[in-house]
Amino acid sequence: MAKDSISRRDFLKGMAAGAASIVVLGGLEGAASLGSGASESSQGGSAADVSVEANGTTMESVAETVKEATKAANGLTFTPGTYTSSARGIGSDVKVEMTFDETSITAVKIDASGETPDIGGKIASGMENAILSAQSADVDAVSGATVTSDAIKKAAADCISQASGTEVTLKEEDSTASGDWLGTAPEIADADIKETIDTEALVVGIGTGGWPALMTLAEEGVKTYAIEKRENPTGIREDIGAIDSRLQQEAIKEYPEFAIDKMEALQELVRYSGGYIDSDLAKVWINESGATVDWLTDIFEGSGKYFMSLEGGVGNISDPGRDKAYATGHSPHKTEEFANDQSVTTNSTFQEYIDSQPGDVTIRTQCELVKLVQDDAGKVTGAIALDTKSNTYVKINASKGVIMCSGGYATNTEMMKALQPQTLDMKVNYTLGSTCDGSGIKAMMWAGAALDPTHASMMFNRCCVKPDETAGYKTTGKWFWFGEQPFLKVNLNGKRFCNESGPYEFMLHSMVMQPNHTYVDVFDANNEKYCEQFDEVGCCRLFPFPNGALSNMPYSFVWGKIEELIADGYVQKADTLEELAQKLNIPADNFVASVNRYNELCAKGVDEDYGKEKHRLTPVDTAPFYGVRTCAWHLTTLNGCRINTDMQVIREDGTAIDGLYATGDCSGGMFATTYPNLMTGLACGRTMTFARHAAKQVAMR
Ligand SMILES: Cc1cc2nc3c(=O)[nH]c(=O)nc-3n(C[C@H](O)[C@H](O)[C@H](O)COP(=O)(O)OP(=O)(O)OC[C@H]3O[C@@H](n4cnc5c(N)ncnc54)[C@H](O)[C@@H]3O)c2cc1C
Repeated sequence: MAKDSISRRDFLKGMAAGAASIVVLGGLEGAASLGSGASESSQGGSAADVSVEANGTTMESVAETVKEATKAANGLTFTPGTYTSSARGIGSDVKVEMTFDETSITAVKIDASGETPDIGGKIASGMENAILSAQSADVDAVSGATVTSDAIKKAAADCISQASGTEVTLKEEDSTASGDWLGTAPEIADADIKETIDTEALVVGIGTGGWPALMTLAEEGVKTYAIEKRENPTGIREDIGAIDSRLQQEAIKEYPEFAIDKMEALQELVRYSGGYIDSDLAKVWINESGATVDWLTDIFEGSGKYFMSLEGGVGNISDPGRDKAYATGHSPHKTEEFANDQSVTTNSTFQEYIDSQPGDVTIRTQCELVKLVQDDAGKVTGAIALDTKSNTYVKINASKGVIMCSGGYATNTEMMKALQPQTLDMKVNYTLGSTCDGSGIKAMMWAGAALDPTHASMMFNRCCVKPDETAGYKTTGKWFWFGEQPFLKVNLNGKRFCNESGPYEFMLHSMVMQPNHTYVDVFDANNEKYCEQFDEVGCCRLFPFPNGALSNMPYSFVWGKIEELIADGYVQKADTLEELAQKLNIPADNFVASVNRYNELCAKGVDEDYGKEKHRLTPVDTAPFYGVRTCAWHLTTLNGCRINTDMQVIREDGTAIDGLYATGDCSGGMFATTYPNLMTGLACGRTMTFARHAAKQVAMR
């Protein structure tokens, strides 16, 4: 098959050359109305070569003529018929069906229904039109849904290849891209604003931060408007971190090791971040999170549908490892009576609470922030948002202030490339992750906010790829919850390279220093016993905690998923180490030597190579042996716009932007370099604590 790249630009260049015989009298304006293919040609500067004879010629027929000339110029001819192809998206195989006549694509049908419903799942019809009018697979990806877009483009290119008998490749990413991820605030004319809303407080984004902000504003009797870009608000997460909650104080009586020294906690946070945090801000979490979790506990338990539990685990204190764990995690669980009632959720519980409070709170979904509005003095007085159902702009005036709870920028590839490219090397695409695209951060920066000087993410070492794949943001991975268990791990040369026991990201950061940013997890027939012996804390624990609290995932469930991964060709199973190495595509001699050395250290009970604690030195000596290539699951980003201790968004000079508050992943000052996951639930704990604090400040204005 001949190889032919038909990027849209090349395609249009060809079109201009081939259309030279068509005479245009109507000028560029006429050409621009010919549909997107022709209008692109005018932007590309080629339309000057194309002229249109106006006398008696309809625009439709001109369009048709240009289209015909375009096809001929492109040089591809097709065997008429319908062709199908598919490519891996983020959660499914995306299917594309394309119909061709001899010279053109006549129909495109895309099935992306297995993708995240309100992200990749909703871009199909837009991409169908784009491919049809460009007559090419090389169309622009949809921002925030780049993985699904790329899968569609790949499958479309394959359909074109099949129909033309020519191998069509997609245009390489433009490495000379400007890197200007911030850009400037869009201009929205007053005439384009179809609706104006007056309120006291505006909350942007309803997830872990938005809900507590709304509940607090409702309690305080503040008239509040909230906008959320998705069809439904995001829920809160399972683990909420706090110090000094009532539940903790109670548990400490029986488990004194659960006690947390607040000054020690602060020193830990500073050490984890290499000093790149605002210690005073961290102290707000340390000092106020206990009361915030008590308040949440009262709301949950007051509903009669949930109870709160403390995840009481600090690991094996008689054999401590390098990194200390803290019993900070709190989890809401449904009561037995409502356990199977799907209509009861944390969101429905919060909504009921809001409805019971004096404040008038209106939630509007499918409405996304476009930019903030400021007065001449720079005070934020509201925002302009886009109602994505009607595609019209709404202006919201907020007399008391705006609280930004709009999350991070994990799905904004341009921002990720500019701010933390190493994360793109470690991660694979996986459905369950933040859907936020940095739009809130950009809006705050346009209003003058300072961005954190360093950048951080929350990643779990719990995704896997097949033996012929490696990590990277263009690869789609699978859920591999076992990945955090501190079993032996080797690089793709079959060599052990670090202490496998510690915060999730330490393992991943060590991995990014290794070839192809991917490692291999190795375990054997005794893995269940070893998982229990590891005495893990936080969300990766697979057995109940010492105080009886349930783990997020039980071993039996996780092992069931591993059986599926074996069937799907991800996890490899073998009777010998040599066979396992061969199945994993890694050098058998190095691998067997690494396992032998590791087993020797396990027998000694001392990790002379990397210092792993004794109770986590478990041998790999009983068949069947298992192995899998592991990489990062990117949950969210954790750096954002700087805030002060009242959650006011600040400028580079430290002054507050009047009327603007932020919490959660769009706010900064709290994390750098890595996420300290051994303080379980810290991300949610600080998001909720700061949200309540910000809402109280706004209420007082
Ligand atoms: C799968 C998963 C599990 C996690 N588990 C835990 C855990 O157990 N414990 C923990 O501490 N942390 C956990 N985290 C991290 C934690 O969820 C975040 O750090 C925290 O939720 C941040 O809350 P947030 O309010 O900033 O963002 P989110 O909860 O993501 O909410 C942001 C909301 O803003 C909306 N939005 C975005 N842009 C706009 C816009 N322009 N206009 C309108 N709305 C907008 C989004 O749609 C979203 O609903 C987890 C993350 C993920 C992805």
